[in-house]
Amino acid sequence: MAFELPQLPYAYDALEPHIDARTMEIHHTKHHAAYTNKLNGAIDGTPMADMSIEDIFQNMGDNAAVRNNGGGFYNHSLFWKVMSPTGGGEPTGELTTAINDAYGSFDAFKTEFSNAAATRFGSGWAWLCVHKGGKVEVCSTANQDNTLMPGVACGGTPVLGLDVWEHAYYLHYQNRRPDYVSAFFNVINWDEVSRRFALGK
Ligand code: MN
Repeated sequence: MAFELPQLPYAYDALEPHIDARTMEIHHTKHHAAYTNKLNGAIDGTPMADMSIEDIFQNMGDNAAVRNNGGGFYNHSLFWKVMSPTGGGEPTGELTTAINDAYGSFDAFKTEFSNAAATRFGSGWAWLCVHKGGKVEVCSTANQDNTLMPGVACGGTPVLGLDVWEHAYYLHYQNRRPDYVSAFFNVINWDEVSRRFALGK
């Protein structure tokens, strides 16, 4: 069963001015599509062809093609969902409590997450993860790694992810990654992040 490129839950221009339409279109139709196709090629004819993406991460061993493209498939599938044209603001409910328990305040969390995104050298992702029991943690990973992969960074279930590869922002922001990170907070879909928190805690 091959993996399929998921549709975006909004139009390419829906996140403007924070993320521009051209970047969104290339990112989805070229980058995410390529990760998806290459993942399918890398697992074809192996036992991983019948596994969920989460199980693939546990069974991929040192297969770099599966790691890079499987991560790219999973990470972007999450990324589109945790953004929304009606996003922004702050979370509510249990997620707020978990963030406050871990970081003291939403603003302190925002600083921590932004620093994780800004200081990831080269290409990678910033994450907010939840551990079993409900503790949340910010971390970052290199390349297309994520925290579901064995032995990577904070190791919980990702509930919020930010792509800090240059392909995610360079057309509009050029070298100004911190401006892109700041703009991301205007489009975060906290309802979706809370949904993932509830499933992963
Ligand atoms: Mn990307």
